Amino acid sequence: MFCEIANPFIRRILQEVGLVAGSMRPYVVGGFVRDSLMGKESQDLDVVVESSGSHNGITLAQKLADKWQVDVKSHQDFGTATVNHPEGLKIDFVTARCETYTQAGILPTVKFSQITDDLWRRDFSVNAIAISLSSDQFEQVLDPTNGIADLEGKRIRVLHAESFSDDPTRIFRALRYAVRFQFQIETETEKLMQSAIDRIGILSDARIRNEIERIFQEACVVEIMQWLSALGICQAICSQWQLPSDFESIWHNLQSHLEWAERHLDNDVLNAEALPWMALNLPSTGQERLSLPGRLRQKLVAHKELAQRLLYEPLTPMMKPSQIYQFLKPHPIEALVYHLPQPQIEQYLTQLRRIKPNKTGNDLIADGWTAGPNLAQALWEDFARQLDKCG
Ligand code: ATP
Repeated sequence: MFCEIANPFIRRILQEVGLVAGSMRPYVVGGFVRDSLMGKESQDLDVVVESSGSHNGITLAQKLADKWQVDVKSHQDFGTATVNHPEGLKIDFVTARCETYTQAGILPTVKFSQITDDLWRRDFSVNAIAISLSSDQFEQVLDPTNGIADLEGKRIRVLHAESFSDDPTRIFRALRYAVRFQFQIETETEKLMQSAIDRIGILSDARIRNEIERIFQEACVVEIMQWLSALGICQAICSQWQLPSDFESIWHNLQSHLEWAERHLDNDVLNAEALPWMALNLPSTGQERLSLPGRLRQKLVAHKELAQRLLYEPLTPMMKPSQIYQFLKPHPIEALVYHLPQPQIEQYLTQLRRIKPNKTGNDLIADGWTAGPNLAQALWEDFARQLDKCG
């Protein structure tokens, strides 16, 4: 069977890859092949090059980089390399390999191999299809695990019984693909997945964090997170973690707050990555478990503080601009955006926070004041009058 690569630009580049490869055997694999067979456009090019005992992935990447007069970024240890085609296309190269798991959940020991072994080590049959790029077999499809039948039957299926317990990140991946493509998780795969949920405990903080961040990139975050929660995966990550019962409305509101921020705020003031984490309600033990970076954790704490404060001291239409300013100034912009829509927060973000005081401490000292708390109070009073005039 052959699969014609639909995008003429990508097809031309991949033909060139096959020509430059000569006797090395390159294949495009994974998401690009899956999406192409489903008639979807993809630019995510992963090329596997069969090994003849050495790092052919890197060798081919280097040859192409020389031809296209661009740089190559390579990792000898993993046999991987990335080349950016000058017309704007990134291609990742890897030498075909098989993997053995000496310890489940930990990254595997890698051995170079042939393309078929490389396909059998993959997560699901739909991701284990290859298209040959060699000139004499260009666009020939290799499907040793029957992935095409699963694509047609809309099924996510693992390739062996230990797949999830070897690498429990595949649980997250299975849910992500099932929701994204509206596929079923095949019955046996689903049983294996459920019985491997307690293996999530062996995953490193970085790998779980990465999976959650990949979910944030999906169109159907709510469905995936709710499924994760229903399967007990949130609790397997952190026993105190409960996804909020109104997560769906929280997430939808968050999207409109982010759209508001995009329209009204300069894009350098908001660290938008913090907001999805705020929506998850991950307790501090969970934040520790995932080793969330210190700056992100500070934002999560600030968000909780603001939520508490707004509960006991709600913002009201009676507040003067100077009072709004004083109330909201100590809170980071991310926490404020999270708590939209509120007219006072909008006024602070779009107007009040940008106002510079007309007078500085030096101006007052020139007027005869001496430095100290009285001066600070006088400065604030002056600034408050200025803010209230803008209101
Ligand atoms: P997406 O559209 O989500 O990016 P993708 O298939 O491109 O899908 P990647 O995470 O970029 O996903 O991985 C590329 C390929 O590497 C996958 O298609 C799969 O074949 C393989 N792969 C990735 N992660 C795993 C894993 N944990 N176990 C086995 N194979 C994996």
